[in-house]
Amino acid sequence: MYGARSMSLCTKLVRVNELGWKQQASPTVHTSSLSSAAFTHRRCSVSSVMSTNGSVPSLPPQISRRLERFKTTIFTEMSILAVKHQAINLGQGFPNFDGPDFIKEAAIEAIKQGNNQYARGFGIPQLNAAIAERFYKDTGLLVDPEREVTVTSGCTEAIAASMIGLVNPGDEVILFAPFYDSYLATLSMVDATIKTVTLRPPDFAVPEKELREAFSSKTRAIMVNTPHNPTGKVFSLQELQLIASLCKQHDSLAFTDEVYHRLTFGAEHISLASLDGMYERTVTLNSLGKTFSLTGWKIGWAVAPPNLTWGVRQAHAFLTFATATPFQWAAVSALKAPDSFYKDLIADYSSKKDILVEGLKEVGFKVFEPKGTYFVMADHTPFGFASDVEFCKFLIEEVGVAAIPPSVFYTDPDDGKHLVRFAFCKDEDTLRQAVDRMKVKLKGKVVARTH
Ligand code: GLN
Repeated sequence: MYGARSMSLCTKLVRVNELGWKQQASPTVHTSSLSSAAFTHRRCSVSSVMSTNGSVPSLPPQISRRLERFKTTIFTEMSILAVKHQAINLGQGFPNFDGPDFIKEAAIEAIKQGNNQYARGFGIPQLNAAIAERFYKDTGLLVDPEREVTVTSGCTEAIAASMIGLVNPGDEVILFAPFYDSYLATLSMVDATIKTVTLRPPDFAVPEKELREAFSSKTRAIMVNTPHNPTGKVFSLQELQLIASLCKQHDSLAFTDEVYHRLTFGAEHISLASLDGMYERTVTLNSLGKTFSLTGWKIGWAVAPPNLTWGVRQAHAFLTFATATPFQWAAVSALKAPDSFYKDLIADYSSKKDILVEGLKEVGFKVFEPKGTYFVMADHTPFGFASDVEFCKFLIEEVGVAAIPPSVFYTDPDDGKHLVRFAFCKDEDTLRQAVDRMKVKLKGKVVARTH
């Protein structure tokens, strides 16, 4: 699948050249953060360009200046490497088990019933209504499904639509580092000015002074992700109140990515929009994927007051226009799941978390136990590696476990180089096997650097 994708990209590059279009000035060719002979999977690498066209001279990849500093996403990169090295994939956050039958059957039924043409751009009315109902149950906020809910192709598109629709070039946007990779890339597409505030272990608390200093009269928005990927932090009421007071003081918006809202362990998830005076300046973003183990369906949404929904919908209309119709119908069924579904979900994920957290401790990691999400961050320095990238390379090649090197989620990669992120959205046997592999190769040893 990946091969086919890179092949078509490459073919396109060659065709463009055959047509004699002027090529852009050669961009900096970024080497992989995991570069080495075995770690050269770049999208449209020079060698794959050549393989489509015999022995033509290599062509530099073409990309706009807005995106040239970005690499293949670390999630894609690590999943490709996991396949290559037959490693257990605790890197990219997708469940290795399927979503519930009742939702899959609803999708099949919707297809059979002929719900297969474009949906209404901002969502089929039934889904907008189901999202509004769910939002009311979760936050106590009553919203108009027709004017305040937009269905998008996954939360990533909701994030992009919010930023593209509501942020102007040069506006300042505050991100907490480590941040999910799409935030930075999307803000670059918008030409926003990015300010980061770093959350540091062990508890990844919001540093009040730094946050106050990051806000200014130019702050258009702050991006908040709670529960937080990759740290597993759940923002506390006090932290959210601080953010709310700064947003109000500086007349800034808040974008809140809450896709892990159902995955908390003994901590309460609070939507920033539910705080006094915040709904009118907040775009709340969510999706189906994590809660219902259907990450490939890409059903997301944005809830915001009508004046902000206008910008979100305008961007969404020209990004994807509409989202897959049968999956929207199935999402209506999903959102009507009984409370017992969510209880079981938490019980199941708590036991997965415990297997991985306890296992990692036994292996010798310093573990920062998550309060939410299906990720756990750990400090790998007991094993003697110079960086997260080197550690992850050893882990995948020598131990047979894939994880994510978190330095890519920081503006200063050094802030994350002692950390590693593992995903526990895997069946229990897989988690145990991964721990066993690590015990064999890592436990009780300080591993010498291999190069
Ligand atoms: N959200 C997933 C993670 O953090 C990755 C999704 C993706 O590959 N873009 O692992």
